[in-house]
Amino acid sequence: MPSPGGEALLSRAGDARRFSPWRPRRARDAGRNGASAPGLIGDSGEMTSDTVDPAVMLDVALEEARAGYAEGGIPVGAALFSADGTLLGRGRNRRVQDGDPSTHGETAAFRAAGRRPSYRDTTMATTLSPCWYCSGLILQFGISRVVIGEARTFEGRHEFLAGRGVEVVVLDNAECAELMTAFIREQPRLWQEDIGAVGG
Ligand SMILES: [Zn+2]
Repeated sequence: MPSPGGEALLSRAGDARRFSPWRPRRARDAGRNGASAPGLIGDSGEMTSDTVDPAVMLDVALEEARAGYAEGGIPVGAALFSADGTLLGRGRNRRVQDGDPSTHGETAAFRAAGRRPSYRDTTMATTLSPCWYCSGLILQFGISRVVIGEARTFEGRHEFLAGRGVEVVVLDNAECAELMTAFIREQPRLWQEDIGAVGG
């Protein structure tokens, strides 16, 4: 049985707009070999990434995005989680901070996670719909799920990912959208640069 804390964590499914239903496939991994899988909130034995609330994963990505904003950077954050809900890596867009246009939120989180033999059943949480580059990373390494904060300010390639069998959840989170909206208003040239829309 889930712990009381687990129920609290799981109860915030909210009004997520989902491209594919978030189906709790309960205890699939936890039941393997009769062993308990560690969860985000403790060793309840029931917590797997299939049942961890996507909003909890997004919170980590949003923390990264806020940190990026505070640094004067592009406020896109991401975090990669294992099948049992363990945080593997987190990061944020570092175009401004490092002068590196190849460090997007997703690639930063991916690199922070280090080397893994497989990305099956991992989840990438990101504050913004992933661009072509990050969508390519997700497909290349076989990341199974993407949790997206919002796709209002930038419509990335999440529908393409869904069409390729990636489980895509768009939370349409207001805080993510507000952060990006403020940034785009304040630094339109920088945003245009990041999405490759600056001519000549
Ligand atoms: Zn990207």
